[in-house]
Amino acid sequence: MKRVTALFSAVLALSSSYAFAEDVEYRLPSSVTPTFQRIHLNLDPDAPRYSGSTSIDITVNEATQKVGFYEQDLVIVNASLSFNGETIPLTVSEGEYDMNWGEANDMLSPGKYTLDINFEGAVNTSSDGMYLSRFEDKNYIFTQFEDMHARKAFPSFDEPIFKIPYQMSISSPVHQVVVSNTPVEKEVTKDGVKTVTFEKTKPMPTYLIAYTVGPFDSVEMTGLPVPGRLYVPKGYADKTAFVVKHTPEILASLENFFGIKYPYKKMDFVAVPNFTHGAMENVGLITYRDSLLLLEDEPSLTERSRPLNVIAHELAHQWFGNLVTMAWWDDLWLNEAFASWAASYVMKELYPELNYADRIVQEGAFGADASPTVKPVKKEVRTQPDVMDGLGLNYSKGESILQMIESLIGTDKFREGVRAYMKEHAWGNTVADDLWRALDGVSDFNLSAMMKAYLEQPGYPLIHIGTDGRVVQSRFHYAGATVEPQTWAIPLKLTYKANGKINQEVVFIDKKTTTLPQLAEADWVYPNDNATGYFRWAVSAKQLNALLSDIDALNKREKKNVLYNYQALLNADEVGVDSVMKVLNALANDQDPAVIRAAVGVLAEFDYLVNDENEANYAALLNDKYLPLLNRLSLTQSDTDSADVIRLRNLLFSLLGLYANNKELIAKSEVIAKQYIADPTSVPSGIAGTAIAITTKYSAVEDNAKWFDTIVKAFKAAQLPNVKRTLVYSMRFNDKASVYNMLDLALTDDITPANTVSMVISVARSLDDHTLLYTWLNENKDALIAKMPDYHVSRMPEFVSTTCSAENLAMANTFYAPIHSQHQGMSRGVEIMQDESNQCLRLKDAFQKDFDAFLEAAQ
Ligand SMILES: [Zn+2]
Repeated sequence: MKRVTALFSAVLALSSSYAFAEDVEYRLPSSVTPTFQRIHLNLDPDAPRYSGSTSIDITVNEATQKVGFYEQDLVIVNASLSFNGETIPLTVSEGEYDMNWGEANDMLSPGKYTLDINFEGAVNTSSDGMYLSRFEDKNYIFTQFEDMHARKAFPSFDEPIFKIPYQMSISSPVHQVVVSNTPVEKEVTKDGVKTVTFEKTKPMPTYLIAYTVGPFDSVEMTGLPVPGRLYVPKGYADKTAFVVKHTPEILASLENFFGIKYPYKKMDFVAVPNFTHGAMENVGLITYRDSLLLLEDEPSLTERSRPLNVIAHELAHQWFGNLVTMAWWDDLWLNEAFASWAASYVMKELYPELNYADRIVQEGAFGADASPTVKPVKKEVRTQPDVMDGLGLNYSKGESILQMIESLIGTDKFREGVRAYMKEHAWGNTVADDLWRALDGVSDFNLSAMMKAYLEQPGYPLIHIGTDGRVVQSRFHYAGATVEPQTWAIPLKLTYKANGKINQEVVFIDKKTTTLPQLAEADWVYPNDNATGYFRWAVSAKQLNALLSDIDALNKREKKNVLYNYQALLNADEVGVDSVMKVLNALANDQDPAVIRAAVGVLAEFDYLVNDENEANYAALLNDKYLPLLNRLSLTQSDTDSADVIRLRNLLFSLLGLYANNKELIAKSEVIAKQYIADPTSVPSGIAGTAIAITTKYSAVEDNAKWFDTIVKAFKAAQLPNVKRTLVYSMRFNDKASVYNMLDLALTDDITPANTVSMVISVARSLDDHTLLYTWLNENKDALIAKMPDYHVSRMPEFVSTTCSAENLAMANTFYAPIHSQHQGMSRGVEIMQDESNQCLRLKDAFQKDFDAFLEAAQ
């Protein structure tokens, strides 16, 4: 590791860190704090309503007449305080931000009280709070309390700062399985009802409480340091071998990394058949989408990646998030960035064959983070939609920034800093500054300034390197967008060639313009050693040519970075189509399949410029340049194929199959699709999904009804969630009857509420012209919105309606105009949809002509 010198001056106007203890209107006042909460619930998955009671030990810190707590959609039957054996009745009224206020007749003097509340509620079907999931004619109750949903299940001090012990007890019909965060303390059965009391928890926030009730089967997870079971819907216990086998090694790797034993008394997993999110790290009872846990015993290589990665992510949260918790939701990214980073660490350590070392995580963030209206990762949060706005960047941008730090100080020092932070704050709450302090402590430069510049400002820099050695930074934006000027503190890890010799050094830039004389004479400059920087960069055309002729001086991460970077520069109107094609040509014949895949990926990104006029030329280019490559790989996956080869094959198959109009490939796709439908174990799902997409796109209209029926029949017969997914969400029909069939299917019980939006997205992707989609949506919007989880309702404009067609955008605007203000968070979804769509339209305007000319010249 090269040594890093600090050249920092405090140049950045940064917001000060957020109030920790100061009272704000959207949080409960510090006058009353909880110390312990008991919750009892009477639950029956076959009955929609339930009742419950809770007692919360509280401390009144300063005299007050009111005690606040959170509650949403519950009926408060009564509430009272007890104090030294005396009962004090409370009159409850509703306030802002889901707060309720219990008012006593007289002032409450400081001291210890117990707040007792009896309440009633309904188990909802919208996949957050406490919710009902109907699966194969059986009912299950699940919970999803992150971020502010515990208040929908029981009254509580529903903020992450209140880390206290809880004790849960649940009464339910005797035949139901009941599980919660801790082991069972006792179970009593009376008159067909069993009451399960769980052990008191360690201190934890409400959002990590979980319980589930239903007719589960379960298997033991052996080899863990604590007892653990994997709970599955009835009949699915034989689909768990893969997860049971790999979970212990993942947990062991994390225990080793943190230097702290797994902090809880048990660790159960639950496979949830209807789940909005991927998984949730509840203390001792982690919930997952069923598709992540119910798998073949030995899934094909690339299909192992997501389940293992998500398990590693959720287990990493048991330390980062659960043992040490953010004080408020504005620091949620601390949880997510770190869990994502730690999951990548585990994947690299345990499963090198999955090639996480080559993944450029920034590429997952750069698109969303280029929007002129994007929010900083650390931002003010008052309400639930504020948390959800830009949620994805908490993971991807957060992980990228941590990775940038790791690459600067080295993995060992990074781990040292994290261990110190964990030790100091175990069982407590933190703000971002606590982590910076820990990392500053193990590095010899000002990491906090760099972190704040990246996390408290939106977007990221574009760095221009001139042939005179002048380095100028500005905020990256796409062609035609306007953004405010900003500067960052940026570590530049330079590789450059001067006088025939390749040099490397690290410099920091923190001003708009910096002069680096050593670059003035360089033949070429590559400023992003090992592609760990969170920025885009540009060099002169002459230096680019020199770099491309010396391209094997770069490693494969760096080569991929050159490709993605030049594609981004095109989108920013910094270079022309010719520059991108030059880079693409220089790397499309690389020895490494990962690099070729990046090159093919860049070409595939131009699909928004393909239209009726140029599609024949585009098809000719694909058949000419890329079909030989696919033919060399063949469509058959072999056991010796590396993950990179598999991914390259899947990408080429999809690009050529959907755009090359190649009769032979379409015919082969039909054979593969039929083979998969007959026996889903005979073809890997990556290939099968593409084969179904191609076949349904090109299928003759009169055959479509038959195809649709065949696919849906196979879908209903399939057991594995991934097979079900591959079958129905791959369909790419575009005729009216089939499109309506797909959309109508989304409203049936065959598609769970959490998967409903996926079907609508599939339809939007299948259609160039969205008229059919909006005709159906206008007729069915009430049923659709009622079925989908609230989170999907708010994101629907962005997920479904983002488009590169002015006509489609106009239809979308007309559709959402009367409804967006009726649904929490949907207005922001519309704004993002408009931003992204208008951006694509501007790019089309700017580059259509050049792209057409390029295709013409390639013939
Ligand atoms: Zn997470």
